[in-house]
Amino acid sequence: MSALTNYSDEIFKCIRCGACRAVCPTFGEELSEIAVARGRMALIEAVTGGELALTDAFEKAVFNCAMCGACKAGCPSGVDVPAVIEAARAELVEKKRSEGLIRFLARKSLKDKKSLDHAFSLMALGRAAYGPLAATPLAKYLPYQYEDFRRNFPKIPRKPLSKRIPPVSRIRSAKGTVLFYAGCVINYVYPEIGVAAVKILNHAGYDVVFVKEELCCGKPLLSLGETEAFRSVAEKNVSLLSDVEADFIVSACPTCSLTLKEEYLKILAGGPAADAAASLGAKVRDINQFLLHETDFITRLDAAEMVITYHDPCHLAHGMGVKKEPRELLDAATLGGLVEMQEASRCCGFGGSFSFLNYELSGRIANRKVKNIIKTGAPAVVTACPGCMMHLKDALGQSGSDVAAFHTLQIYEKAIKK
Ligand code: SF4
Ligand code: SF4
Repeated sequence: MSALTNYSDEIFKCIRCGACRAVCPTFGEELSEIAVARGRMALIEAVTGGELALTDAFEKAVFNCAMCGACKAGCPSGVDVPAVIEAARAELVEKKRSEGLIRFLARKSLKDKKSLDHAFSLMALGRAAYGPLAATPLAKYLPYQYEDFRRNFPKIPRKPLSKRIPPVSRIRSAKGTVLFYAGCVINYVYPEIGVAAVKILNHAGYDVVFVKEELCCGKPLLSLGETEAFRSVAEKNVSLLSDVEADFIVSACPTCSLTLKEEYLKILAGGPAADAAASLGAKVRDINQFLLHETDFITRLDAAEMVITYHDPCHLAHGMGVKKEPRELLDAATLGGLVEMQEASRCCGFGGSFSFLNYELSGRIANRKVKNIIKTGAPAVVTACPGCMMHLKDALGQSGSDVAAFHTLQIYEKAIKK
């Protein structure tokens, strides 16, 4: 049990208290011990002890986790549940070699920029066919179409962010330089968020550099247990991004921020790129965190009244502990219009590859979020993650609600336009 034995101490830290049951989104829907951190830790311990084989049921329990990190954030013993689950997934990949379409596509498409560009061009074509078909009786033959939850994929625009902004966006008397790391969802699906990021960072007094050759952060590979493919992506991104002279590296996708900040360091530890990964990680900030703590952006807003509610992305709130920053900025940008929803920091069900592997479960988790959003009466929900935004748009649309979903940057952009 190579990958997992390194985590034996972490697994033994679990005192089986069950506190994670209150916060685990998969347990909230499944109400089953194998769908919560405690049960997953028990199963993994049984595998490491040789009492349980790498069965299909074990694989399902391990891959049914949304990797939201809520259990880790609230665990009295400090068990790093997502890290243990990632190690179990890597073990399954290494020993069992289960191959699925998503795993195959992730390995092939995320390895370099050219493959990534091709993959999103193909996805754009696929989406163009999927959308109309999903509205016909043929929908039952399509993936991601369940009785209660039928996925709507966003349209993929023809021009990604890399073709919309220059490599450097300068302003007069800049206080410094920021490298903006877009990540795949912003680059290919919501480039308008990247365009807003550049405007906002310029408005906050910084020159902005964008590396058009940036690769996916690689987190989908890590979550799928594809450790070696993730290592390769981490090495390439560290080399590319370290070449840029910048005071900060800023991202508007919390999954990317967390991966660049912590996961590269872990996977490259002890190797030739370890120091570069550490220097890179030290410069990484979520954009909300950066704007509030490193700039006077909040004093430069031309705010307008607007009522909104805010959803905490898991990797931002649980992973990076960033909760108050987007709230302060949003409240200022909407003249006190932020209304809190219940369970704001409970997962929306996206979870990156989780929503592709377990869409039906992910949809049920999203429904709970939608109910909490609607209860606030706010006409818009705002979040700091493009993936959560995509999932919320999908879930809200399916519920028949007309509540709009935005990224925080789209609200800040409105407040600097006038
Ligand atoms: S909260 Fe932590 S220690 Fe308690 S059961 Fe869950 S993982 Fe184990
Ligand atoms: S990471 Fe999230 S989904 Fe997975 S066990 Fe922990 S709380 Fe549950």
